[in-house]
Amino acid sequence: MKTGTIIKVSGPLVVAGGMEEANIYDVCKVGKMGLIGEIIEMRGDKASIQVYEETSGIGPGDPVTTTGEPLSVELGPGLLESMFDGIQRPLDALMEAAQSNFLKKGISVPSLDRERKWEFKKVVEIGDEVNPGDIIGTVQETTVIMQKIMVPYDVAGKIKEIKEGQFTVIDTVCIIETAKGDKEVTLMQKWPVRKGRPYATKLNPIAPMITGQRVIDTFFPIATGGAAAVPGPFGAGKTVVQHQIAKWGDAEIVIYVGCGERGNEMTDVLNEFPELKDPKTGESVMKRTVLIANTSNMPVAAREASIYTGITIGEYFRDMGYSVAIMADSTSRWAEALREMSGRLEEMPGDEGYPAYLGSRIADYYERAGKVICLGKDQREGSITAIGAVSPAGGDISEPVTQSTLRIVKVFWGLDANLAYQRHFPSIDWLTSYSLYADTVDGWMDKNIKEDWSILRKESMSLLQDEASLQEIVRLVGVDALSEQDRLKLEIAKSIREDYLQQNAFHEVDTYTSLNKQYRMLKLIIEFKREAEKALEAGVYLNEILALEEIRDRIARSKYIVEEDLAKIDKTNVDLKAEIKKLISSKGGLQDA
Ligand code: ADP
Ligand code: MG
Repeated sequence: MKTGTIIKVSGPLVVAGGMEEANIYDVCKVGKMGLIGEIIEMRGDKASIQVYEETSGIGPGDPVTTTGEPLSVELGPGLLESMFDGIQRPLDALMEAAQSNFLKKGISVPSLDRERKWEFKKVVEIGDEVNPGDIIGTVQETTVIMQKIMVPYDVAGKIKEIKEGQFTVIDTVCIIETAKGDKEVTLMQKWPVRKGRPYATKLNPIAPMITGQRVIDTFFPIATGGAAAVPGPFGAGKTVVQHQIAKWGDAEIVIYVGCGERGNEMTDVLNEFPELKDPKTGESVMKRTVLIANTSNMPVAAREASIYTGITIGEYFRDMGYSVAIMADSTSRWAEALREMSGRLEEMPGDEGYPAYLGSRIADYYERAGKVICLGKDQREGSITAIGAVSPAGGDISEPVTQSTLRIVKVFWGLDANLAYQRHFPSIDWLTSYSLYADTVDGWMDKNIKEDWSILRKESMSLLQDEASLQEIVRLVGVDALSEQDRLKLEIAKSIREDYLQQNAFHEVDTYTSLNKQYRMLKLIIEFKREAEKALEAGVYLNEILALEEIRDRIARSKYIVEEDLAKIDKTNVDLKAEIKKLISSKGGLQDA
């Protein structure tokens, strides 16, 4: 350990001299209290250190010691169901250690509990040859997730000793004989957060991550292993979208990073998630969730680290062969932390004061998403799907954080303040949003859900687009200028918006819609349109069709039909055809007479 001396303190930035032996990205203990910091710039013997705790009370002359190690996280049993701060300090243990609800400074608690014992089952035997990523055993971490204990990245050799039974994360469970000598393996590994964990091969994302949110799954799907951004002004519904995906998305592991937003949103998560039952397992969703909280009242520098802490934990579960979804709410707050540190370093500011490397930092983060073949001999596949909220001031998406994000992610869910104001939720604007996975996912849906899925989807989307131009005409010359066919289009587009796109996150049935149900609901609306078009051609008046109130009401209420009763939606479809047939034959009857 090398010791230097503080020269200057500027908020979360500390400059220390006498640090010639330190390296950039080394973790330091700053001041007499030993606050945790990380070197972010070296100039000669001067180190600029971003400090992850409040720096009041430290000043020039105080000591700084480096640990010689980069900022790292502990990976092993005990991650799930936990809540950590941005540098992976467990928040409940921290508060206990500090005996208060406020974080005291300089308290050091290990990230993973050192006392708790886990039941380890081996899957290798003495004499087995192992390489990085190979699984040596398992720990049933929660009722739904089994951790696979893997050979660390830089270790390869022959199993010399393998144990079984109850162990803490620091007990040796295995000894591997390597070319460089014996290597002791514990249930826990460490990994530097700013470096992506290695994998064997990157794969192309093809299958959708199913979220149960109709506007997303049907129109703007995200692939498992893909990346999406949710930009929107305050109150537009970014947090609700992220919560919904955390609750209902079909990822096996959820990492939720609350990053610079209000603390009560994290409290909501803490109150809600344990109560929520995962539809697949019937267990609390917390059993597959890791929470990282660096809310607005917590030190700003740790916010910068929080997304890396989160994605490194995500990569660890990916490496076991799990599908992981990581939410970051909000990446704008993260970028502001980056801007603040850059300003204090007196770097040359770029666009709107953000550092010139903003874009590459954002890319570094999202590039860690993906679907991969993991290291290890069993060729297991794992994935990370990354979803980031962006909160541009005033909702103006031309600002640098949104633009840099959109350059790298393939899905854009653009939240619209007007839609939110009209209480159209989720307020994802169907005219501006996009998913570059839509074509690939279409193929998957046609194969796995129903062969005409993509036809229905495209027909619906073009109706929504036609609606926008028809409304323009109506605005100019009034609705009477439209043909009955065009007025029908407006009615159906309205039905798609209100009966399909609008989805109430707080309604116990509406909150989640399976793909099967989405297909049936959409088919119902589109077949109503097709039948109505036939009727118009046969001379039925639009008003007569619109007067089929009972049927139209059933279409509108199909979102509230529980998953066990989907036949009811098909029944409506049958009944609507019968009703329209009646209308058509009534015309036919008149003509015949
Ligand atoms: P943001 O994070 O963009 O500031 P929130 O996600 O907190 O906005 O959403 C603001 C409010 O909008 C929520 O408290 C809720 O009342 C409403 N809302 C958003 N999405 C939905 C939804 N899908 N269903 C019902 N209400 C919603
Ligand atoms: Mg929010």
